[in-house]
Amino acid sequence: MNNSITSSSISNPNANRSIEYAITCSDATGQEEKFVFHQHTAPSSVCQQPDLSSNQIKTQIILLMRDLVKTHHKEVLQARAWFCVECNRSATNIIHNPMSYLHLPKPQIIDLATPCCANKICEASIQAHFAEMMATMDVPN
Ligand SMILES: [Zn+2]
Repeated sequence: MNNSITSSSISNPNANRSIEYAITCSDATGQEEKFVFHQHTAPSSVCQQPDLSSNQIKTQIILLMRDLVKTHHKEVLQARAWFCVECNRSATNIIHNPMSYLHLPKPQIIDLATPCCANKICEASIQAHFAEMMATMDVPN
């Protein structure tokens, strides 16, 4: 079986394109680490000029991002001893905030990851901060 993807398949909307998944994880102590993965692909229909009025396309992008997060979550968490950005205690979790830049010529997902301890109050505070940040950004839709 030959599964190789050739460059001639790029114009096919069902063909997969290579994407970059870049995670930047930083905590309150000034530790920062960048993780970049190139082994992932996305359907051409969600890259370049995705039709964001289509709920199906939006869902596809969200599921893709969820999948990327799930695949690399442990690796980021275990990369070093992170500290909660809210209270400085040892982090037991990483909260991901992936954003789609699949419409760019070089399709990518940028993920700002934030270490968090087991305290639900810290988690809620980090989530709220991200929601605020997203609201101030001019996301075209
Ligand atoms: Zn905390």
